[in-house]
Amino acid sequence: MWRFEMLNKNDIVEVYIDGMGSDGEGIAHIDGFALFIKDAVEGDRIKAKIIKVKKNYGFARVEEVLEASKDRVKPICPVARQCGGCQLQHISYEKQLEYKENKVKGCIERIGGIKDANMEPILGMEGRLYYRNKAQFPVGLDKDGNLAIGFYAKRSHNIIPNDMCYINDRTNSTIIKVIKEFLEENNVKPYNESTGKGLVRHIVTRIGYHTKEIMVCLVINADDMKQSLKDDLVSRLKEIPNMKSISLNVNKENTNVIMGDKLISLYGNLYITDYLGDTKFRISPLSFYQVNPYQTEKLYDLAMEYANLKGNEVVWDLYCGIGTISLYLSKRAKKVYGVEIVPQAIEDAKINASINNIENAEFYVGAAEDVVPTMYKKSNGKMKADVVVVDPPRKGCDEKLLDTLVKMEPDRIVYVSCDPATLARDLKWLDEHGYKTVKYRAVDQFGMTTHVETVSLLQKVKKES
Ligand code: SAH
Repeated sequence: MWRFEMLNKNDIVEVYIDGMGSDGEGIAHIDGFALFIKDAVEGDRIKAKIIKVKKNYGFARVEEVLEASKDRVKPICPVARQCGGCQLQHISYEKQLEYKENKVKGCIERIGGIKDANMEPILGMEGRLYYRNKAQFPVGLDKDGNLAIGFYAKRSHNIIPNDMCYINDRTNSTIIKVIKEFLEENNVKPYNESTGKGLVRHIVTRIGYHTKEIMVCLVINADDMKQSLKDDLVSRLKEIPNMKSISLNVNKENTNVIMGDKLISLYGNLYITDYLGDTKFRISPLSFYQVNPYQTEKLYDLAMEYANLKGNEVVWDLYCGIGTISLYLSKRAKKVYGVEIVPQAIEDAKINASINNIENAEFYVGAAEDVVPTMYKKSNGKMKADVVVVDPPRKGCDEKLLDTLVKMEPDRIVYVSCDPATLARDLKWLDEHGYKTVKYRAVDQFGMTTHVETVSLLQKVKKES
């Protein structure tokens, strides 16, 4: 019988997969040590080839599936295994949901130390494919020097050419084909990350779910593009039905950040419009907007339910983007204040309030951890809130912000999070500062991937008198 410490690179071992890791990989336990195996599914019995052995854990890859797990399914996308976009296409949707619930619960209990909050069942999706309304396709060269448009491979910047992504709106295929022809026929060079040369870096698209309006933004490594090229690009793209916005974005930095700050409008408006419920939203290329329109209303309805507004509350919506949650909540609150760091998003938010005739929402631009503490200080501690909603990016909330939130003494905090680990960290901090996590619920905004959204309700602990 072999033991874990006897394993070497390239050894083949037969193992049973009894768990899943945070990147969606299968885990086999040998003598209590964990072997992480990409593309293996919990319940599989496999032959695995060892890639690396560390002191207490190791990595392997699937050599042969000997007995497939009942949760193993055939991925619909032919490049699912290579592409870094989807990690869970080979796992049944029911198992994906169970995995996400366990991931959220595990973080909240282990990192957050919160064991007595009520976890409500995850809200899954009905249509599981073609859900994304936003796509970002890198443009580059393949290893033979041919133009490649697609998605990055896992943990790399090698482009897997792909114009048919099964989790994106299908119209993207047409957009990519048109732009590929434009680039090839005009001999426009794609950006090369290692030399910093070449023009086109990314194609960013957005498609309105209800309105079907299309936005295309070409990210370029230059201050502008030749007029003849711009004209040709527009003449090709505007033939696509519902094309409403074509623009260039300037990004000359050597960075992984996709977009720069400067936009050049080529056709139509610098925004598209869409609806959430009966509220109309204008969305510009640099603004954040939830990517899964099938689930966004469920997410916001849940935030609304947890906020439990009666109509006379003062609400703060921090990290508000284009004001989606703020305007959703404003209909049942006395006043809503939104704070967001991207200036274009705040411009959108103000216009969104006005086109929906909403007068009780006010928006501030800046980092929440600067704006809120500064305003609080200026008010001499008089700035209070009844309910605070936070919806930060993956890194979670800054402690400076949490510290001020506690001083504003809201009765309830609704925490919307796209990263269960930082959520758990922040819930722990709030728990130590007088806010108890009462309940939480995961929402599947990102089917086929390991990502998951969570809404949590925290209640102010009443001081005993
Ligand atoms: N609640 C919005 C946006 C959530 S995404 C919605 O549902 O659409 C998180 C948002 O936080 C993004 O718009 C991002 O630009 C913004 N952001 C990132 N860091 C920030 C900070 N330090 N302060 C305020 N906003 C920030």
